[in-house]
Amino acid sequence: MADILIVGAGYAGMMAATGLDRISEPFTLVNNHEYHYFTTLLHEAAGGRGEPMKYTVPIRNMLRKPTSRFVQDEIVRLDRARRVAVGKAGEYPYEWLVVALGWVPEYFGIPGLAEHSLVLRNIDTAIQIRRHIESQFEAYKNDGDSTHLRIVVGGAGLTGIELVGELVDWIPELCVRYGIDRTAVEIQNIEAMPTILPQVSPELREVAARTLTEKGARLRTNTKIVKVEAGEVHVEGDDPVRAGTIIWTGGVRAHPLLSEAGFTVDRRGRAKVDAYLRSVDDDHVFVGGDTAWVEDEQGKPLPPTAQLATQMGHCIAENVSSAVHGHPLKVFRPSLKGTLASLGREVGVGNIGRFPVKGFLAGLAKEATKVKYFWELGGLRLTAEKTGEIVHLT
Ligand code: NAD
Repeated sequence: MADILIVGAGYAGMMAATGLDRISEPFTLVNNHEYHYFTTLLHEAAGGRGEPMKYTVPIRNMLRKPTSRFVQDEIVRLDRARRVAVGKAGEYPYEWLVVALGWVPEYFGIPGLAEHSLVLRNIDTAIQIRRHIESQFEAYKNDGDSTHLRIVVGGAGLTGIELVGELVDWIPELCVRYGIDRTAVEIQNIEAMPTILPQVSPELREVAARTLTEKGARLRTNTKIVKVEAGEVHVEGDDPVRAGTIIWTGGVRAHPLLSEAGFTVDRRGRAKVDAYLRSVDDDHVFVGGDTAWVEDEQGKPLPPTAQLATQMGHCIAENVSSAVHGHPLKVFRPSLKGTLASLGREVGVGNIGRFPVKGFLAGLAKEATKVKYFWELGGLRLTAEKTGEIVHLT
């Protein structure tokens, strides 16, 4: 029996695993948590919208067949010569490997940033952000230092803007809980480029900026973070900002295990793959999600999004099974369905296909993308369970 090993249970890894599970193709999936989490919804978990563990699903519950095996372990090295993935708790040999290890924060070498900022990376860090902000409100009640009530979010890409949207809707609740005036709290978003949300049209950026500003956020573009110290953000050409909470959403890069294992990688550490999502360095290795360097027909690298990771996972499930049985492989054809950014609990901006959407319609469309994903991952049962828990239609 050929051994298929999948490392990483993000969007690409889970779709590869559930695809193989469906056709009873034997495989082992190794992941550091026993659950899969919804990365695209981490801002909701961090911003007090729902109980954080609701944004997870136990991996074992998603795998039904006796041919599917799950092991909880953290992979620390890929030994390509021996065809073994080395974990903290054991070694996992493979004949066919699927690498879907996701991303790590990109700090661009900015001094102090990694040490003194929080990141929205997984459920643990979402909980950390949520608790940290609550603890700052408590600290303010004790010592009256207004610095505790300033929150800086570095970066105005989709992650930064969705998080700011969530925070501006959560802060009024916290103010009531702690008996603090809303105007005493400041949320500053700091972006190096001239605009927020480069992914959407200038008109929608304007809508997003207006929505967030009206809800009390301060958006600072053309402002580059150059250094961070404990509780202090230094920006180019302006005074430093003292803040009780500093969150970095300024960029991502692929998990370092790929470059460490000698795969051909791009400047963000993603491993180059061929048209079938096989590594260009090893045709027994498939790479998916944020760890894959895939180019579109014009040779432009695809962005690291959940939408594409999900599509890659489906394709890899088919291709790795075909490879095992000596059948022809399928070319990966990405289909970009649009981009949606939530701006808090009800509204959003984005585009569906070529059509721009904003306000409640965009908010609803965003909720619909959740349902679509639950259906793809776990069918009716998961959709019924999670829709009740974390889909908001009001
Ligand atoms: P990003 O790289 O897209 O955005 C980071 C932002 O931080 C950029 O605008 C950048 O100019 C800014 N920045 C970088 N260095 C800075 C500095 N020193 N000072 C101030 N600003 C600085 O990162 P992201 O938002 O985490 O997104 C990562 C990927 O995930 C993207 O491909 C994105 O499309 C995807 N994503 C999609 C969704 C969605 O579809 N709703 C949500 C989140 C993330």
